[in-house]
Amino acid sequence: MRRKKNGTFWEGGPGARIFGLLFEEEGFCLACGERGKALSGGLCPSCRAAIDRTSTCRKLTEEADFTVFSASFYNHFLRDQFADYKFSGKSYKEEIFVSILDDYMKDHPVLSRAGWLTYLPMRQRRETLRAYNPALNFARGLAMRRGLVLVHALRKARESREQHTLSRRDRMDNVRGSYILAEEDGFLSAEFFIGKEIVTGRVRVEDLMDQEGILVDDLVTTGRTMVAGAGPLLERGIPIYGLSLASASYPNNDQKEN
Ligand SMILES: [Zn+2]
Repeated sequence: MRRKKNGTFWEGGPGARIFGLLFEEEGFCLACGERGKALSGGLCPSCRAAIDRTSTCRKLTEEADFTVFSASFYNHFLRDQFADYKFSGKSYKEEIFVSILDDYMKDHPVLSRAGWLTYLPMRQRRETLRAYNPALNFARGLAMRRGLVLVHALRKARESREQHTLSRRDRMDNVRGSYILAEEDGFLSAEFFIGKEIVTGRVRVEDLMDQEGILVDDLVTTGRTMVAGAGPLLERGIPIYGLSLASASYPNNDQKEN
């Protein structure tokens, strides 16, 4: 699998998880670094309370039946933690985000029934140059925790450089149809988590039609990128839900759960 060669496999994901667990074992809060407080999900009580778990549920029904869940609101606390993770190399903070997503999945039978996970591949060239993709690492972290299959289902339809040369406006118009199924002879590459072992292999596209999956992303604003990612799956009759760590906007009355 190519991802192993360029090092992506070991950036974040399993490595970060192990580091995160060690950190927690030592009794340090993953967010503030304070020691000796009762940790849960890697966080001390006050950092835990700083997460805004107001969730958002968008039913993007214009494109078949596609629902996108966001597990939290992207408040200052989460933004700071995410910036540390994404730009300051604090990959151990991944545990914070995977825990939030995992808690949310546990509370939602429709999501905890899913058998496999996938993610939105890198969107912009700048991101491609960085070592890791948060969406991939969150999906992998969830797959490890829950013993699910991680499927490398999507790839970008165009070369990043082409996208990069487009104007901002054109690029936005271009989002739709920008992902395609990363299919080879009817198969997609996948990772299986058996105990602590990671086994790479393939899944048959047809087999995904019988089992609901989850498309993971880090942050959702309008949900349009999620729709673009779900498109190639829905077109093939593959049932999929969207799940993001956070929503950039506070839910309006239609988007609130319960
Ligand atoms: Zn803390």
